Amino acid sequence: MTDINTLFPRRQPATDPQEPALLNWAQNAMLANKNAVIHIENEQQLQQVIAAAAGKVRIMGSRMSSGRMLKLRQPGDTLIDISALRGVLAVEEDSVTFAAGTQLHEVFETLTAMNRMLHASPGVIDSQTLAGAISTGTHGQGLQQSSLADEALRIRLVDAAGTIHEVSCQQPEFAAAQLALGTLGAITAVTLRTRPTTLYTCFKSASSADNLETDLLDWNQRWALSKAWWFPQENKVHTWNARESTPDERERWRNNHGNLVELEETDEQMNAAVDKTLQQMRDDTHIVDENGKPFRTVTRFKDFSDVIGDVYQVFCRGIATPQINIEIGIPLARAPAVIARMKAWYQQSHPHMHYPIILRCTGPSQAWLNPAWQQATCFFGFVVYYAEDGSLSADGLAFLRDAEQLLAQEGGKPHWGKYFDATLYDWPTLYPQWSAFQQVRQRFDPQGKFLNAFMTELLS
Ligand SMILES: Cc1cc2nc3c(=O)[nH]c(=O)nc-3n(C[C@H](O)[C@H](O)[C@H](O)COP(=O)(O)OP(=O)(O)OC[C@H]3O[C@@H](n4cnc5c(N)ncnc54)[C@H](O)[C@@H]3O)c2cc1C
Repeated sequence: MTDINTLFPRRQPATDPQEPALLNWAQNAMLANKNAVIHIENEQQLQQVIAAAAGKVRIMGSRMSSGRMLKLRQPGDTLIDISALRGVLAVEEDSVTFAAGTQLHEVFETLTAMNRMLHASPGVIDSQTLAGAISTGTHGQGLQQSSLADEALRIRLVDAAGTIHEVSCQQPEFAAAQLALGTLGAITAVTLRTRPTTLYTCFKSASSADNLETDLLDWNQRWALSKAWWFPQENKVHTWNARESTPDERERWRNNHGNLVELEETDEQMNAAVDKTLQQMRDDTHIVDENGKPFRTVTRFKDFSDVIGDVYQVFCRGIATPQINIEIGIPLARAPAVIARMKAWYQQSHPHMHYPIILRCTGPSQAWLNPAWQQATCFFGFVVYYAEDGSLSADGLAFLRDAEQLLAQEGGKPHWGKYFDATLYDWPTLYPQWSAFQQVRQRFDPQGKFLNAFMTELLS
């Protein structure tokens, strides 16, 4: 097992602009010396920089994944920032091509202004870059859709020799390019399939977790989009189930100037569970500000009400707060048995609950390295927020470790863009297309230029 301090590092104090090291978003890892970072201005420059690089090369987006994904150690290594490659490159009837460094909020705003949306529902936040999000399998919820990368039609990237490849969804290697952890090359543009905007009405509810095993399947089969937060301590589940809005509901949204409509009737059934969670989070983080960002991630469940809005207004409502997050995908068919096992574990050992367990299911993905490759999958998500002083609750981390172990034993596969203990997984067994992926990698990067220490170990 990986040492707990290596896996979940402390957060560094606020950065001094003079600081020579570049940190990741969570500020828990030094990625590289700032003079190793090259801010690319165009694709041609990117080709030259990659072709000329003598050391290792990693490409960064918003740096929201764990630091080890991007960390470089040696003089001569290069960390490439492609954030200047942003915006719309081409618009077609059913697709839009974005530069790879475009942040997701800009993708969503652009599409919304065109009265279009992606078939994939969004995750909770939208500050990731498009390339960073697809490269790790970023996803939202709903069995009728899958990850963001599953909406890609073409991916343009620069390989280790500096050559441009335009990989289209008709080519066999597309399934490798869809989720490649930055190991095939630097993505410069992504063409996304779009569809006309649909409005959703989201029904929020609170229920007992007694039948969660069957309820979860039922919600996901009956509703277009479904997300649940499981509070094992209170034996409660808070659920957001959404379907397409009716003409009357759409009218209400238009009358609200296209803003999210929060229906008047509120429900206080989650309030006690939220108060208890808040108390635990306060004890764990020592953050005194009542409106502190981590607290707002749960206070929104108090006095909840149904809402009407577009998919981004309804689901992309997260508050990005420094955290350790783990998310493990389990084949949907196995999810009820795994929930039952987690219940038994909870009853037996009453682990410390820092935050509720987040349950999101997706349909099958085409990407070879997506945990949901060719099968509907339930993702079990866990979060521990950083304390004011940069530490993490020991009990919270103990819970994360035990939960990950339990899910790994059940054949779970971790989200690549979050935290995970790589020693728990046998990748070639979990991913039948593992060696096919490696063959594509060999073609794009025969010398392993895009592999830092963590990637080398992971893919070896
Ligand atoms: C607060 C928070 C909330 C989150 N919510 C969700 C969620 O709801 N759903 C979900 O699925 N995930 C979620 N995530 C995970 C997140 O989506 C991933 O970590 C994602 O990879 C971050 O994108 P980024 O732009 O920060 O990429 P980075 O962290 O910068 O990079 C991630 C990977 O992508 C590669 N990469 C980046 N840009 C390029 C490029 N141009 N070409 C080739 N490779 C590239 C990097 O090399 C690296 O391997 C969340 C993370 C946080 C911190």
